[in-house]
Amino acid sequence: MSMLHEDRLFIGGEWQAPKSGARLESIDPSTEEVWATVPDAGPADVDLAVAAAREALDGPWSRLTATRRGRLLTELAALLERDATSLGELESRDNGKPLRDTVGEVRRAAEWLRYYGGAADKLQGDVIPYRPGAHAFTRLEPVGVVGAVTPWNSPISLYAWKLGPALATGNVVVLKPAEQTSVSALAFARLVHDAGLPPGVVNIVPGRGAGAGHALVSHPGVDKISFTGSYETARQIMRSAADGLKRVSFECGGKSPHIVFADADLERAITVATHSAFRSTGQSCSAGSRLLVQREVYDEVLDALTARAERIRVGPALDPRTHIGPQTSAEQLDKTRRYIELGLDEGGRVVTGGGRPLGLDRGYFVQPTVFEGLANGSRLAQEEVFGPVLTVIPFDTEEEAVAIANDTTYGLVAGLWTRDVGRAHRVSERLQAGLVSVNTFRPVHWTLPYGGYKQSGLGRENGLAVLREYVEVKSVVVDYGDDAPEDPFAD
Ligand code: NAD
Repeated sequence: MSMLHEDRLFIGGEWQAPKSGARLESIDPSTEEVWATVPDAGPADVDLAVAAAREALDGPWSRLTATRRGRLLTELAALLERDATSLGELESRDNGKPLRDTVGEVRRAAEWLRYYGGAADKLQGDVIPYRPGAHAFTRLEPVGVVGAVTPWNSPISLYAWKLGPALATGNVVVLKPAEQTSVSALAFARLVHDAGLPPGVVNIVPGRGAGAGHALVSHPGVDKISFTGSYETARQIMRSAADGLKRVSFECGGKSPHIVFADADLERAITVATHSAFRSTGQSCSAGSRLLVQREVYDEVLDALTARAERIRVGPALDPRTHIGPQTSAEQLDKTRRYIELGLDEGGRVVTGGGRPLGLDRGYFVQPTVFEGLANGSRLAQEEVFGPVLTVIPFDTEEEAVAIANDTTYGLVAGLWTRDVGRAHRVSERLQAGLVSVNTFRPVHWTLPYGGYKQSGLGRENGLAVLREYVEVKSVVVDYGDDAPEDPFAD
């Protein structure tokens, strides 16, 4: 297959070479070969993108009706749907996820855009009973120029998560995709152009975190940052955003507890627990990476889960038989391997997996791995691996399950399996996570607000809740009374 060369950034509705002429190489993680090059934007390019966004915000974009903005999002959704297979193929090569996952993600991204397209003209302010003789109301105005920074694990989904609400509320966006997976971002940019969005409303500037990323989040012309990625980067961004008090929202991953009580439908719980731990090769912020199992069913669950994990077919992303692909980068594979070593050093036992799958000599592959024998306080049970590594921990009582589940610095997702309705509500109430599910796991959906407690993030994405993150609320008071104003300086 010939190399793909993308050499231009999408700024102000036009294709522009980066000022420095620099490029990044994109590696196919199934083969370890460079398969594409992408432009590497720098601060000068970010300046241009922010200026183009501001011009659009002050110009044609602000003159469109909310209904029209919504239509443009719906149009973009249709183009994504049309090109789902070709975009999925690009993503599979860039990111290593199997084709059925990436094509499915593109289709779901279209649903996200449709949902916000429909919401665009339904967001409204309030009339407020302030006092007689005055008409008081609120206006919901766009925050302005949004800097969106995204990771490599679900690229196209996250473009839709950020663009949908930002554009529905009348903002403009400069998007900095992850350097490992920028190819599909530029294909996405073509669709933004073809959907008829006015020039500058969406600008796409691939580049490194320390280059284009830092330039964007510290740019004085950016009003809000919407970021998904690691906690460490979120902290740096918060510091950069302090000047000018930029609005920030962060989604930073988790170490999500998945609790199986003895009274649960174990067959279903085990199927879902295996899927939620290993889907996307564990490279998911919502992975159920800590499985807490009530002691009386612990052996039964562990045996069944192990058998299922061993049936997962690991393979190249474009092979239709593949269930899970490689890790996205060599760095991520090293990180996962280091965590497997660490788990062993901490006294854990590998029940299954732990190494490279047989017959896959090239590519960033690792087996689905199940650990037991680790305390919840161990580093493997506390830190986000972002690989296919599951830690299984027994518990005795409901009280203990909740205590272990909440004993983490994260708080993105949590789930429990039980047939006891009272327990379902009691435990859901006590779990510290932005998304709690009973008898299912991580129902991530455009209609459901999503985001973290504690160090998993700040603010919410998805649902109608996210729209508030992209508006300034302005109170307006119009006094129409005839009474003379009180004059405290009259005497
Ligand atoms: P990261 O936080 O380094 O990168 C995410 C995005 O931020 C990328 O676009 C990157 O270029 C950009 N970035 C990096 N430094 C920046 C800076 N100083 N200013 C502005 N932008 C910057 O995450 P990563 O390297 O892709 O992955 C590291 C770890 O983060 C993973 O192993 C995993 O634990 C976690 N992660 C979480 C998610 C999630 O969905 N929550 C996604 C990817 C990674």
